[in-house]
Amino acid sequence: MSVADNIDFIRTKISKAAVSARRDAEEIELVAVSKVQSAARIDEALAAGHRIFGENRVQEAADHWTDCRAQYPDLKLHLIGPLQTNKVKDAVALFDVIETVDRPKLVQALAKEMEKQGKNLPCFLQVNIGAEEQKAGCAIEELPALLEEAKKAGLDVQGLMCIPPFDESPVPYFSLLRKLGNRHQLNSLSMGMSGDFEQAIKLGATHVRIGTAFFGSRQV
Ligand SMILES: *Cc1c(COP(=O)(O)O)cnc(C)c1O
Repeated sequence: MSVADNIDFIRTKISKAAVSARRDAEEIELVAVSKVQSAARIDEALAAGHRIFGENRVQEAADHWTDCRAQYPDLKLHLIGPLQTNKVKDAVALFDVIETVDRPKLVQALAKEMEKQGKNLPCFLQVNIGAEEQKAGCAIEELPALLEEAKKAGLDVQGLMCIPPFDESPVPYFSLLRKLGNRHQLNSLSMGMSGDFEQAIKLGATHVRIGTAFFGSRQV
């Protein structure tokens, strides 16, 4: 299937999931995760009119998108991978949304750099929703303090993001993220990937991050 076909297929599924949850499909953003995809496939997506992309590495994203940006002024790039403080400058320069704010040091570095570059990028706080040792994201019990710190620093926190444990049903984790969002009046929820975005939409996702179902399998 072509990327354009994949997009139609995913959009249909998004609409169906939204209808069954009595939600408006328009409020769900499809973030196409383009990490490790070929330039040809990404070009197919652009040709089909898609403009919202997610990348998990700053350097890889800069290599692909820096020149391409000028051609597509309405492009919206989401950083969805862990951000080291030494990459904050490049990340703020390149991305439009930072989904992976997960610790006080990063909050401070982002706030400082955004001020320097005269930007105030929308941010999501990433929650380590399954309390997995190897995963990024702030611990659930640290979320209130992190949110407080981010607000104080002037970050535009719009929502929460999570990646549930991959070998379990994501349902309880999606529900938990929604609960946390409600509790803190954060309306945007970035959750759901190729295998589970319909479930995520039924549980309130406003942003789904879809890679393989969008582009085909990643060549590694
Ligand atoms: C790679 C990645 C995705 C996309 O995963 P697929 O299963 O290919 O849809 C979504 N979110 C994050 C954070 C990722 O790193």
